[in-house]
Amino acid sequence: MNAATANQSTTATVVGVSGNMVTASFDGDVRMNEVAYVALGQGGDVKLKAEVIRIRNGACDLQVFEDTRGIRVGDPVEMTGEMLSIELGPGLLGMTVDGLGNPLEELAVHSGAFLQRGVYLPTLDRTRTWTFTPIARHGISMTAGDTIGTVTEGIFEHRIMVPFDIIGAIEVLSVKPGGDYRVDEPVARIRVESTGAEFDVTMIQRWPVKRPIDIYAERLLPATPLTTRVRIVDTFFPVAEGGTACVPGPFGSGKTVFQQSVSRHAEADVVIVAACGERAGEVVETLREFPELTDPRTGRSLMERTIIVCNTSSMPVAAREASVYTAITLAEYYRQMGLRALLLADSTSRWAQALREMSGRLEEIPGEEAFPAYLGSLIAAFYERAGLVRIDDPNLGTTNGSVTVIGTVSPAGGNFEEPVTQSTLAVVGCFLGLTYARSYAKRFPAISPTDSWSNYLARLKDALDKTYFTGFVDAARDVIDYYRVGQGIGDQMKVVGEEDLSLADFTHWLKAEFIDAVYMQQNAFDEVDACPSEERVAQAFQFAVRVINHDFKFASKDVARDTMTTLTATFRDWNLAPAGSDEHHRLWNEMEAAVHA
Ligand code: ADP
Ligand code: MG
Repeated sequence: MNAATANQSTTATVVGVSGNMVTASFDGDVRMNEVAYVALGQGGDVKLKAEVIRIRNGACDLQVFEDTRGIRVGDPVEMTGEMLSIELGPGLLGMTVDGLGNPLEELAVHSGAFLQRGVYLPTLDRTRTWTFTPIARHGISMTAGDTIGTVTEGIFEHRIMVPFDIIGAIEVLSVKPGGDYRVDEPVARIRVESTGAEFDVTMIQRWPVKRPIDIYAERLLPATPLTTRVRIVDTFFPVAEGGTACVPGPFGSGKTVFQQSVSRHAEADVVIVAACGERAGEVVETLREFPELTDPRTGRSLMERTIIVCNTSSMPVAAREASVYTAITLAEYYRQMGLRALLLADSTSRWAQALREMSGRLEEIPGEEAFPAYLGSLIAAFYERAGLVRIDDPNLGTTNGSVTVIGTVSPAGGNFEEPVTQSTLAVVGCFLGLTYARSYAKRFPAISPTDSWSNYLARLKDALDKTYFTGFVDAARDVIDYYRVGQGIGDQMKVVGEEDLSLADFTHWLKAEFIDAVYMQQNAFDEVDACPSEERVAQAFQFAVRVINHDFKFASKDVARDTMTTLTATFRDWNLAPAGSDEHHRLWNEMEAAVHA
């Protein structure tokens, strides 16, 4: 139920502290994943939030979400009876919260630049009002997730829904008339049909983050692409709306830049960025830049569609786990409204490291590389929360909603043969592998055209062909094959030298390098190149294919090299020229001329 039933009959006391783990003995009932507060000192008023992660023999182990300095044996522990939960409601868009849902801006105002321990604030602003429009009529029967009314938030109609934890049908007893209400004011009164229990519904509901929101009508197979605007991804290794992708790469290979670029340009309604255990400086940079960026499609601040869940490497490890679950819960909440939510998690390795640390403290039998044996099932359960679903609303009709998850993995030394990468690859539909070699050669994004794959390519064929041009997917497959052969020739050339290569093979290699330079590479920092339209992508790709198929009748390797170098430079300039500009036309004509000659 929404109202937490305070677990007053249970008393608990600290009996041991080990890093971020506190062991408490208790009398009464304690549940797994229940939230507890550890009081610093007897009668102290600083209470640190924690979660029950193991129960045995009258004692429970708690992972504390903050620095545990000062906790001593005998300190009292308050059990709440409530699972680790997050507040859901209007006002989330544009916010930056920590893994526990604390609003970071307000927190900073509250306690200054150095966050104090034991300060927790409600996620949603209790003072702001929202203009509510009733949808549900008095007397009708509804179930969890059905819409009672809406409020406008950013560019969306934010649905105020029947609380997700209600089981069975409810009857709407009354709905407030249209008007301005605070999030904690009742907007409807409902009765649960099976029990007869009546209660008020506000715009806020709480949801336990480790439990998927699964009250949709049906799960559907992904059938449309989630356009990221990263050409190499959208063309060769597309991500499906409601699908999952893994982006592993060594340090400095461009994981964060990739995530930031996708968070800005992807065709999603809501973007949740989970900055998990990354360097604080990078996160601060993201936070500073976002409010100033505008969404090219709506002309409004990008922050209006974005929520940042931020746990930096300087925050305690236990909070990292909470942050990935909080982030996916937020994404599921917007999916339930029939929206396309995109979750970008950077980096899931930091989460896995937190799991390893906790598992070590619990003295569990370790699995590979000391990660817990259940790492794979946790990762699988996390990515399974992604998906395309059908939402049937009795008042608003049927819509689809989706959660797409793109997670980065940062394996030590860039070795993909490690448990986190392998566990992730076993469950995702798309692998975008960043390589050191490509980033070292400044071929960004450093996504490997030879190793990456997408299981969605076949399923998205119709949609992709419709978006770009008929035959697009077949052409993409051909180009990748052509590129791989070209790379093979390049490797051979490194051994035998250029002279022993036939002109035909040499030309093949040059054309593969051309495709790489003008199409697979993309400048994430250039306003135009970072965000090409579908039309522009189709035009560029068709031209690139023409170059591959064109018989240039080169007289020599030198002529071949010179021609392709010039064409590459012109095409790269064209990528940076704003659509419709004189420059754009002029360069295009030059490119056309090259394949007409
Ligand atoms: P990681 O998160 O994998 O450690 P970063 O995302 O921080 O790596 O990228 C490291 C550097 O690589 C960036 O600071 C930038 O200079 C360069 N870089 C990465 N991706 C791109 C890109 N798409 N375009 C241009 N430069 C890039
Ligand atoms: Mg990074």
